[in-house]
Amino acid sequence: MSQSIVYLDHNATTPVRPEVVEAMLPYLTEQYGNPGSPYALGQRARKAVERAREQVAALVGAADPSEIVFTSCGSESDSLAILGGAWQRHEESKGKLNRVISTRIEHDAVREALKLLKRRGFSTHEVGCGADGLVTAQAVAEALDDATALVSVMHANNETGALMPVQALAAVCRERGILFHTDAVQSAGKVKLEAHAWGVDLLAISGHKLNAPKGVGALYVRKGVRLSPTVTGKQEKNRRGGTENVASIVGLGRACELAQANLGHAEELRVLRDKLEAGILAKVPGARANGSRSSRLPNCAHFSFEGLDGHHLVVALDLEGICVSSGPACSTGASTPSHVLEAMGVDARFALGSLRLSLGYGSTEADVERLLEVLPKAVEKLRKVPASLL
Ligand code: PLP
Repeated sequence: MSQSIVYLDHNATTPVRPEVVEAMLPYLTEQYGNPGSPYALGQRARKAVERAREQVAALVGAADPSEIVFTSCGSESDSLAILGGAWQRHEESKGKLNRVISTRIEHDAVREALKLLKRRGFSTHEVGCGADGLVTAQAVAEALDDATALVSVMHANNETGALMPVQALAAVCRERGILFHTDAVQSAGKVKLEAHAWGVDLLAISGHKLNAPKGVGALYVRKGVRLSPTVTGKQEKNRRGGTENVASIVGLGRACELAQANLGHAEELRVLRDKLEAGILAKVPGARANGSRSSRLPNCAHFSFEGLDGHHLVVALDLEGICVSSGPACSTGASTPSHVLEAMGVDARFALGSLRLSLGYGSTEADVERLLEVLPKAVEKLRKVPASLL
């Protein structure tokens, strides 16, 4: 990564680790076989895909590598879980199961899938969260009924980093025979995942959030859970069609292996994040930290600066070579409060002036110090600019 850039937006995307590039290169050059081909060149690609499946299975805590389905991204994994799960249950129940429960704080990948289900005649319901950004198992349990086909609740929120009680959520769903999906795109590689032990049925991850390339993801599908495919074809045991993206799958596998080995270093990241958080709260008047303090990812912090527009702050920091986010990357550019902060009941005066800082592979003490040097001045400067000039 360029020396001059301070990258504090690892929840948006991450740099691809050199070890991952190295693992991928042979499959972009001489090992170009189709894993579906019977001859040796194809079978070498097959072997690489199956090795990656084992590596992903280990990271998510699957009981067996066959529970991993490769996809093109986290959004596709969420779509396959939600649309595929709901459609399958609907069909098996002869239309009786036609309701899906989710939450008000999900990523657009999930929210758009829910909208699609609604257009296809399903009813949907979004459970709220507390002021800390956490969804409780009790709130979800109260929303379940006899028509519920599937529940989808994210593991870690992409804006606040709040970590949901997925094991308890999975338990209330399992009790009633309802499929439970969790979007673990933000938590994979940052905290230990135990899909099998937690009792979740479906769990989505994405390569580019854990130092693999963009355009590859995976879905954990508990043994015995059937999905109606969203991309048809014979690959991935009829669960996801399309010739496998071998190089990217190999990269995802290697990244999962590295992330698994690195989980022990999460504490170092947490210490760095805490330093950044404490520094901002001490140095920037009117700064407020959002989201749960006790149940959250170790790598990110979320702030509100009263009376400021977060987008202006992002631009001001960019001019100093610092990459941060004022909300989810996909909606950057819109000066509306995020739906997550709205669900948490954050006042619009604060919600519009929000900033997400997320650390990851390659983050250093010097990055944090640079931000702590630049941010207070940037906030002060922006506060002096008359609103009519912004
Ligand atoms: N879910 C969450 C929580 C995310 O943060 C993201 C990406 O920002 C996605 C899903 C979508 O992942 P992808 O970009 O791989 O489609």
